[in-house]
Amino acid sequence: MPWKGEKKPYRIWLSEIILQQTRVEQGMGYYHRFIEQYPTIQALAKAPDQQVFKLWEGLGYYNRCRNLLHTAREIVEKRNGIFPDTYEELIMLKGVGPYTAAAIASFAYNLPYAVVDGNVFRVLARYMGIDIATDSTAGKKIFHDLAYQMLDKKEPASYNQAIMDFGATICKPMSPLCSVCPLQSGCAALATGKVNQLPLKEKTLQRRTRFFNYFILEYRQKIWVQQRMVKDIWQHLFEFYLLETDRQVHWDAFLIQNCLKNQLNIHESTVKKISESLVQQLTHQQIKGQFIHLQFKQKPASLKGGEWKTKAQIRELAFPKLIASYLPTIKS
Ligand code: SF4
Repeated sequence: MPWKGEKKPYRIWLSEIILQQTRVEQGMGYYHRFIEQYPTIQALAKAPDQQVFKLWEGLGYYNRCRNLLHTAREIVEKRNGIFPDTYEELIMLKGVGPYTAAAIASFAYNLPYAVVDGNVFRVLARYMGIDIATDSTAGKKIFHDLAYQMLDKKEPASYNQAIMDFGATICKPMSPLCSVCPLQSGCAALATGKVNQLPLKEKTLQRRTRFFNYFILEYRQKIWVQQRMVKDIWQHLFEFYLLETDRQVHWDAFLIQNCLKNQLNIHESTVKKISESLVQQLTHQQIKGQFIHLQFKQKPASLKGGEWKTKAQIRELAFPKLIASYLPTIKS
């Protein structure tokens, strides 16, 4: 990204405002065009409104553009064009919230403020094994406090960049690369089999339709089961290895192998069956479940947080209705 390693507060601020509510791929072109047309805050401040709005066209949320102009002119008129260099002053700027203020403070001035974006929430929730919804009031406070505790106060800019990059490239939302992750030995979610269940989000928990992809992992007539411990539906019931996704996945051999390799370092498996989608209606949610039955010749060593059970042992365990109704069809 062009703003990576950037030290100029004007450029960091500009990129952060553009990226609020905009995907990086979409924002990139706009950032380049803004920097080219308005290389300094003075140039932006004296530009006619309509010219700036025209350049912003297509990005939406025009309030951001109005705030951009307002702040640029305020800094030029009242501060002689010098960007504020403390968090307290930065957060007073129109359109600048805690995230953007922390980003400018740490990246431009190396001040000890933790930048907490979706990547950071995810890394912290998984590494520390925290099952409190990241978007709840309590969760936001806990994660922000934790992010600050973990921050390298001597190298905040590098630390913030590193943890965000780590979340974007290794500890990804779907199919995180646990098998090559340098933090795997200390990762609580990996040790307890909760990688795919964290981070927890209120928004997800309240979503009407959820998609549960259950991997039935079989090795020598035994199947991997784990107890559902996160504060969500079906707490304490048993289930198979779960991957929750935000939409229906059309599984094929390639996708399955890729997922197993990334998450569990499993390179060889046989796909025995991919089920149809089954539905369980709960009071406020509809769960759509799909079962992917896989067989291994070698015991996968990286599975944690559950146990291998025979079919007879499995019959003794309590499962959610969705799984219980599918159990009789599993043929070892
Ligand atoms: S082991 Fe997996 S879940 Fe844990 S930090 Fe690494 S990539 Fe994330």
